[in-house]
Amino acid sequence: MTVLHSLSALLLLAPITPASSPPETFRPAAASSHAAAASSPAGAPPVAQPVAYDVQLTSDATGARWDGRERIVLRNPGPGTMDHIWLRLWGNGVDGCTSTLDVTVSSFRGGIPGTPEVGCTAVRVTLSKPLPARRTADLSFALTIRVPERADRFGRVGAYAFLGNALPVPAIGDDLPPYVSGGESFQSVTASFLVSLNHPAAMAVPATGTVVSETRHHDRVTTRIAAPLVRDFAWAAGPFASVTGRTSTGVRLRTWYTGEVTPETATGVQSDVARTLEYGAREYGAYPYPEMDTVIGGFEGFQGMEYPNFVLTEPAALPAVHETAHQWWYALVGNDEYRNPWLDESLAQYTTDKLLGTPDYCATAPFWFDDGMRIDAGMDYYATHYDFYAPGIYGDGACMFLELETLIGADKMRTALRNYLARNRFGVAGPATLRNAFQAVTMVDLTPFWERWRNTAA
Ligand SMILES: [Zn+2]
Repeated sequence: MTVLHSLSALLLLAPITPASSPPETFRPAAASSHAAAASSPAGAPPVAQPVAYDVQLTSDATGARWDGRERIVLRNPGPGTMDHIWLRLWGNGVDGCTSTLDVTVSSFRGGIPGTPEVGCTAVRVTLSKPLPARRTADLSFALTIRVPERADRFGRVGAYAFLGNALPVPAIGDDLPPYVSGGESFQSVTASFLVSLNHPAAMAVPATGTVVSETRHHDRVTTRIAAPLVRDFAWAAGPFASVTGRTSTGVRLRTWYTGEVTPETATGVQSDVARTLEYGAREYGAYPYPEMDTVIGGFEGFQGMEYPNFVLTEPAALPAVHETAHQWWYALVGNDEYRNPWLDESLAQYTTDKLLGTPDYCATAPFWFDDGMRIDAGMDYYATHYDFYAPGIYGDGACMFLELETLIGADKMRTALRNYLARNRFGVAGPATLRNAFQAVTMVDLTPFWERWRNTAA
């Protein structure tokens, strides 16, 4: 996500206090138990994990409602027997437990659902039979998605519907952060998605993954989409126009835009996406998918949002580059976006600054607006200090990486990030993993550096 639109204004308005030593005892709430699961997802997460999704959904005439079934193949990575998962219904995050939920699940097979919890964003599903270590089980349920009228990553504006975080996905563990509107609470493991969308023939459905077939039946089409090795699946629906292209690295670009965007602007955004994909592949490691879909619209409220192989962006270079940079930091290397937003956001903004230029405020960063403000603070802090979120996680966070690059040198910076990607690709990394990746390439003791940037939490 991008929330930089008002960063300059915030830096002027927010009280700027001199940098001081971080309080020794500060830790993001409940970070310790969660970090253990996040930093070793292949170890022993306490709940079963998805390895494959098979989803079949049929839309109404406008894309505002989708009905169908979702099937999840779950695997128990061991060592113990597992008996449940938590299904996250993030689409209910904004409206909460209304009488008609935006996302409802019912008619379960393979498990018994509890009552929705955490603002109706989480349903505990007890598996019909305990799942032994290293075995798989099928869970399926009926799914109804009602896209609320709202300019948001999950919302619709006019004839266009945006279905980000609409598809229920299992939580990684038993830790269930609440939904946050500014920023993210999401965390999921990499799996393979096969999604069939039955929709009016006049409606385009840009999505994560690659279209494998389109079957016409009268005035409707079933679009089958395969998305192997991604941690989420998002799509949009509406009368989008599109331009296509290809990066120099061979990635097919499909760029979709709403009626308020001109073809020339769409082509410009597509070239911003292309240069980001080319830069990321050259600096960090391959973008290992054949396609990248960009949906351009008037997303003034949130500027843009990242999903695997798929981004929503305003028609401007900054959000387009930032969201595309998330293909490495969030999509390929996952993280707990609620506990450790800096891992993906600060790195994505650092990549953006590398492409678009170092902002002037980095010369005097960091800006600490209160004692609790830290690079390593979670969304539990930033959701209640939202004015500090963009200056802290995007502004200070990116400046921190730019200063680190100056400290250890550009070659070692590149080596560390390449190693971090190679070792955590398709996985989930924690803060210590990233900090250790930098320490491993330099003789400079980085401890004082991290302390100065208030970035020491596990
Ligand atoms: Zn972002």
